[in-house]
Amino acid sequence: LSNAEFVRDRIRTVPDWPKPGVMFRDITPVLQEPRSFRVLVDIFVHRYMNQGLDLIAGIDARGFIVGSVLAYELNLGFVPVRKRGKLPYTTVAEEYQLEYGSAAVEMHTDAVQAGQKVLVIDDLIATGGTMVAAIKLLQRLGATVTEAASIIDLVYLKGSDAVRATGTPVYSVCTYE
Ligand code: 5GP
Repeated sequence: LSNAEFVRDRIRTVPDWPKPGVMFRDITPVLQEPRSFRVLVDIFVHRYMNQGLDLIAGIDARGFIVGSVLAYELNLGFVPVRKRGKLPYTTVAEEYQLEYGSAAVEMHTDAVQAGQKVLVIDDLIATGGTMVAAIKLLQRLGATVTEAASIIDLVYLKGSDAVRATGTPVYSVCTYE
């Protein structure tokens, strides 16, 4: 079993959640089991060590879990990309469209310095809307987003194609076709 397959085996699929027809990919079993949590984090550590990164940006909320341990292991700082209305200081926001209505991600205006090389990470790329908004926000703050990382890519939704269309490479540990 490869390391990625070991992680994949611990992902739980919950049918019809949060609504009928959706197959929710639940990563909590990966985190719960110490060996799969370590294998998962180490996959990212080995990919991103010695890459000259300056900062890890994790997306609310599961991107915080893996992003913060990755930052710690790589001796880098961590910044949150949050859902609207959560950050206390001056913020910059990027809106994106949902199936019904819109959402926004926010960052503190001083979260990154111009020219910093930033990795952005989340647990899963579905339509790519969240990840694309996070990348646009980071780029508005002057960051160079070197790669977008996720545990899971739902390839059939073409979200990772949308992310690549921004010029940012995408890496995912597991894919669902
Ligand atoms: P997108 O913006 O790409 O359509 O949706 C991705 C966002 O929704 C991510 O922040 C992710 O946490 C969440 N998400 C959507 N579907 C799933 C799923 O099946 N499993 C998990 N763990 N997260 C999901």
